[in-house]
Amino acid sequence: MIIIGFESSCDETGVALVCTERGLLAHSLHSQIAMHQQYGGVVPELASRDHIRRVLPLTREVLGSAGMTLDQIDAVAYTAGPGLAGALLVGASFAQSFAWARSLPAIPIHHLEGHLLSPLLAAPRLDFPFVALLVSGGHTQIMRVDGVGRYELLGETLDDAAGEAFDKTAKLMGLGYPGGPALSNLAQQGDARAHDFPRPMIHSSNLDFSFSGLKTAVMTRVRALEKADGPLSAQQLADLAASTESAIVDVLGAKSIKAMKQTGLKRLVVAGGVGANRHLRTRLLQDMLKLGGQVFFPPLDLCTDNGAMIAFAAAMRVNAGLVDLSDTSHAFTVRPRWELHDICLGADAAAV
Ligand code: ATP
Ligand code: MG
Ligand code: FE
Repeated sequence: MIIIGFESSCDETGVALVCTERGLLAHSLHSQIAMHQQYGGVVPELASRDHIRRVLPLTREVLGSAGMTLDQIDAVAYTAGPGLAGALLVGASFAQSFAWARSLPAIPIHHLEGHLLSPLLAAPRLDFPFVALLVSGGHTQIMRVDGVGRYELLGETLDDAAGEAFDKTAKLMGLGYPGGPALSNLAQQGDARAHDFPRPMIHSSNLDFSFSGLKTAVMTRVRALEKADGPLSAQQLADLAASTESAIVDVLGAKSIKAMKQTGLKRLVVAGGVGANRHLRTRLLQDMLKLGGQVFFPPLDLCTDNGAMIAFAAAMRVNAGLVDLSDTSHAFTVRPRWELHDICLGADAAAV
């Protein structure tokens, strides 16, 4: 069965074709980063308008690169939430219209389930159960995953997400938006021991996180340095970046290992944009080796938002028998706020 998937929850328009038997066939992506950069963050109205402009050309592109025609598509998947309401509505209404016009079933997908299952795109033989570290721009969660739709939240951030910690500290260092990749690149030239930033909650007995104190500590240090020496030098910035990255990675690493020990599981899966961070990847690979376990990451280009993870999550749901393919009502809504817990099997999930 061939599924076309659409992602439009924030500032990336993604379209992909996935086969339920053969996996990813093709995907195309347009990032709006350059458009939002001058505003220092995502402008929701501009995001929605751009999704409208991009979705059709990307659909043609993905069909072209897979060498397929519309007739070969059997179902349509789209991100139904969480995310920006207007942006979600573009993808949802496009996908539902597409499905209606061609009498196909439409499958609403939870964006975080897309991230969560994306490492399986590259590791089809990865077995359940596993521990998942979900580190994105809006979420930082540790979950136990026993199967498709069987997710147990073990811990999460009490304030900022890890991606937010990267972005906000990068912003106050003047590194622009989104800061995560920029800060991480700069960190390679810096000394991670230059500043002893706090590792919030690293020793707490639970699997929760907190990153807002780190951001304040970095801000205080930046101001003190500027007051003493004037504008920061390239080396000062690199040292700040390396020390910040190291603090975030230390906490994510320590909590992941704690979760492995607590659950007794040997497989760790990392998902979400921060999963692209090289330092985090190396650290987790080393830690898991020591623990006699394995760690899995999505391919680098599929860590941040994309259509492939949405089409793929739909395919996994279909394969698990969780989708009613006979439903062709095409009534739909989007859910800007939506807990992953709501789609867990056995949960009282509100209909999408
Ligand atoms: P959510 O999925 O929670 O709704 P989102 O879709 O905005 O949020 P993602 O697209 O998964 O999040 O990830 C974007 C985040 O990943 C940003 O905060 C970005 O700075 C961060 N990020 C991307 N690459 C890196 C990197 N190499 N190092 C650190 N952070 C990174
Ligand atoms: Mg994004
Ligand atoms: Fe995301």
